[in-house]
Amino acid sequence: MTLFPQLDAFRGGNNQVRLIGHRGSRGVMPENTMPGFAFTLDIGVDALEFDVVMTRDRVPVIAHNSRLDASFTRDQKGSWIAEPGPRIAELTLRELQTLDVGGLDGRSTYGQRFPDQAFLNDVRIPSLEELLDFANLPERKNLSLMLEFKSDIDAKSPVQERVELVAKVVSQVRARKLEARTVLHSFDWDLLSECRRLAPEMPTSYLSIMPSNFQGSDTKDPALVCPDFGAFQMSLPQAVARAGGQMWCPYVADVTQDLVAEAHQLGLLVSVWTVNDPAEIQRMIDVGVDGIVTDYPGRVQRILSAQGMVWRDDTYGQTA
Ligand code: MG
Repeated sequence: MTLFPQLDAFRGGNNQVRLIGHRGSRGVMPENTMPGFAFTLDIGVDALEFDVVMTRDRVPVIAHNSRLDASFTRDQKGSWIAEPGPRIAELTLRELQTLDVGGLDGRSTYGQRFPDQAFLNDVRIPSLEELLDFANLPERKNLSLMLEFKSDIDAKSPVQERVELVAKVVSQVRARKLEARTVLHSFDWDLLSECRRLAPEMPTSYLSIMPSNFQGSDTKDPALVCPDFGAFQMSLPQAVARAGGQMWCPYVADVTQDLVAEAHQLGLLVSVWTVNDPAEIQRMIDVGVDGIVTDYPGRVQRILSAQGMVWRDDTYGQTA
């Protein structure tokens, strides 16, 4: 069943597990930046996960948090910005792009989590259009986009802002005819309903995390807009299928072989976030997920290739 050609690039099986660079490849390159995206593709990983929020002048830009993060944002003088950083929704694109997000402050808690990340200068927060133009280059025709919408919990008019963000993003994707290479992805399941209404030609990917695993996760952000997953009266795959999604994207600690099998029976693809630990990478391969979203694509490539497995349709990385 292939209703959405976009999904082929995210489907595993036949000795294949798909590889998706999380925020580009955050473990080794500055997150959500053009150098990180280019690096990810240059090492043979064709799917990019990234996050979209909107500026004050209503431009979709690529950033994870609703506020600028002081641990990787420097001002025009090269100094780290003060904590807490300003909300992106209160800055124009022009103001935002005076700042440099190419390096992590090694003294910060966040910086210490990624000791191998390269330190670059003069790297700007990209607009979504910048990445879409890059994806549109003839040499990037294999690139797939896992486009994550971030909902701002402090939004003054959440419903209106959600519709505006989805409409803007969809029109930018359509303007470049990239619909057939884009999957729309979010924790905000209401926003995904809006995606299904406004852009029925693009599949939707439903993120989840069970509250019991929240503390151990990457997402300690209390500003996460998402359903109360712990209150669901059905399994997460059933809930995604009922919501009309095509992909389920659970947190790694929530994943079991039974849930993956159930999701597949329901016709869903399963991509898992954010899998960086080698033992967890192996466990995800063993339970049969379709795709692994990781900060360290090279690490997953090595684990797959050591078992004679592939992450894309050609034999990239394979030796006879
Ligand atoms: Mg994301």
